[in-house]
Amino acid sequence: MAWDMYQEKILDHYKHPRNFGHVESPDLTGAESNPLCGDHITLELKLDAKQTTIEQARFSGDGCAISMASASMLTQKLQGRPLSEVSQIRRKDVEKMLGIPLSPVRVKCALTSLKALAQALSTTPTPLTVSEAPEEAPGAGGGAA
Ligand code: ZN
Repeated sequence: MAWDMYQEKILDHYKHPRNFGHVESPDLTGAESNPLCGDHITLELKLDAKQTTIEQARFSGDGCAISMASASMLTQKLQGRPLSEVSQIRRKDVEKMLGIPLSPVRVKCALTSLKALAQALSTTPTPLTVSEAPEEAPGAGGGAA
């Protein structure tokens, strides 16, 4: 079993997190904490002009090796991918990404970044779901008064 290699990969991402930092003016942000362990992750995403593809993904925060490594790997996975695709990322994908079996406690750590992603995606400006406009007076009417 290549357990050691996987652990090395996690430690490497933990010590040298990829995409750690901030996006200049993020289109989407999501934050999630895992109080059981003390993991905090904020995810910032910059979208392309059409608002459909992630151009830049950055994360910040702190936590244990598993939570940081999964956030680091996740941001790598997100960059250049359409929102429709990244919204399909599930727990099993995160487990596959980390490459180690996760205990119930560790799963929470590993999924903190995915939850932050879900938060971010929930703020997507989706042109399909037009929120009901609050009752508003329709402007100045048009007549010159
Ligand atoms: Zn943790």
